[in-house]
Amino acid sequence: MTALKAELVSRIRALGPMALADYMAACLMHPVHGYYQKERVFGAEGDFITAPEVSQMFGEMVGLWLADRWIALGRPARVSLVELGPGRGTLMADILRTAARVPGFQAAATVHFVEASRQLRALQAEKVPDATWHDDILTLPTSAPLLIVANEFFDALPIHQFERTGGIWRERMVGEADGRLGFIPGPASPMAGLIDPSVTASAAAGAIAEVCPMGVSVMGTLAGMIAEQGGAFLALDYGYATSATGDTFQALKSHAYTDPFAEPGAADLTAHVDFAALARAAAEKGASASRIADQGTFLMTLGIGARAEALAASGDPARILADLKRLTAPDEMGTLFKALAVQSPGLTPPPGF
Ligand code: SAH
Repeated sequence: MTALKAELVSRIRALGPMALADYMAACLMHPVHGYYQKERVFGAEGDFITAPEVSQMFGEMVGLWLADRWIALGRPARVSLVELGPGRGTLMADILRTAARVPGFQAAATVHFVEASRQLRALQAEKVPDATWHDDILTLPTSAPLLIVANEFFDALPIHQFERTGGIWRERMVGEADGRLGFIPGPASPMAGLIDPSVTASAAAGAIAEVCPMGVSVMGTLAGMIAEQGGAFLALDYGYATSATGDTFQALKSHAYTDPFAEPGAADLTAHVDFAALARAAAEKGASASRIADQGTFLMTLGIGARAEALAASGDPARILADLKRLTAPDEMGTLFKALAVQSPGLTPPPGF
């Protein structure tokens, strides 16, 4: 039994079943045994590969998008360039290299990372030494317009799950029997108030619904700051464009799906992102939300095809083509992954949507 599992089993024995969100938070963010404290999370040797780790082309397109939004904002002399959950720092390094080609951008931008993991902060500092680190979004600067990017951040935030039984939503809790962890039915819960009414209206008996209060509150807070200070926010992740029922809670270890309760802290736990809920949270705070685009469409509209041709001409065309396909093809990351832009009212429409 892992140390974290022993800790969770005794906690449940003492205090009773715990919400899935509390279980996820413990598995991912426990200060000693949490998943993100692990040495190798990303890449071939890790548990999963993210878009910026697939190819530099991803970060180049995102860098151009952010530079375009800086121009749309009127080229402010100072801008806070913020990344949520920067992983190994690869995306920001690619963004900075690309956006530096836009005159004035580099001098205007200061980099801010929101990162909970000490382990990952050290890796990020190797790639982007001048960044300022934040434990959460509450300490981000309020003085300048914001350009914010988040790739595979929202899927890592804890969710609550509910099951429709007897015409009400009951929360699914994590319980324990003979040292084994697993789901048990819980009580009706006020958290179910976050489920969109359209989801409840169409929910059959036995349906599962999910909410991510932390995701909605992060988006709402940042959208409010953007409405006030000016700015733009690009969120990319796997998820769905319309709020719906469904169980998307999953565990990934060494590039394969695994039992999320078997080894707490050893596997990555995620849920698909409800982009419609994020867009609603942004609009409620006075920012304007784009439509939700597929990642493939977003990247192709921004010109990743032309960039791939240029790179292929000077390098390894077979690899470049494979990377392009991985990022944009419908049967790879092209349609499962979505993009959402949130920006201050009155800006020109964001490219790519
Ligand atoms: N964006 C990177 C990494 C994605 S993994 C990439 O695309 O490769 C998720 C990242 O979010 C990690 O850096 C993780 O440490 C961070 N993270 C997860 N939950 C967080 C939280 N609640 N607060 C701050 N950072 C968090």
